[in-house]
Amino acid sequence: MADADCIFCKILTGDIPADVVREDEHTVAFRDLEPQAPTHVLVIPRRHLPDVGSLALEAPEEVAPLFAAVRAVAEQEGIDGSGYRSVFNTGAGAQQSVFHAHVHVLGGRAMTWPPG
Ligand code: AMP
Repeated sequence: MADADCIFCKILTGDIPADVVREDEHTVAFRDLEPQAPTHVLVIPRRHLPDVGSLALEAPEEVAPLFAAVRAVAEQEGIDGSGYRSVFNTGAGAQQSVFHAHVHVLGGRAMTWPPG
């Protein structure tokens, strides 16, 4: 299930350290190394699939826990009241750089729309 070349799988196994803020049986959440907002947490499924769409097709039972974890992280980080943005980059053209499904949870500052 894990991909030996995947940096997020290595975080899941503990081979690469991360600032983990939450974990449950389906997901792990940790702070992004290059935060784009005062709060910038990545929520990932333990199951290795390359993007969220693939997760929905191949492991749909993992999608609801992923979204529930996003909400739990927002509450834990205290950004649920002020609002937060959830981002899924899919494909290199959308700046996806790690091909293990993940949700960026961004908050703690005003968000612009449309995004750049
Ligand atoms: P994406 O560009 O959507 O694939 O997002 C991948 C994110 O992972 C980027 O925002 C990176 O800063 C972040 N990232 C890469 N390696 C690590 C790491 N070891 N720990 C925490 N965040 C990381």
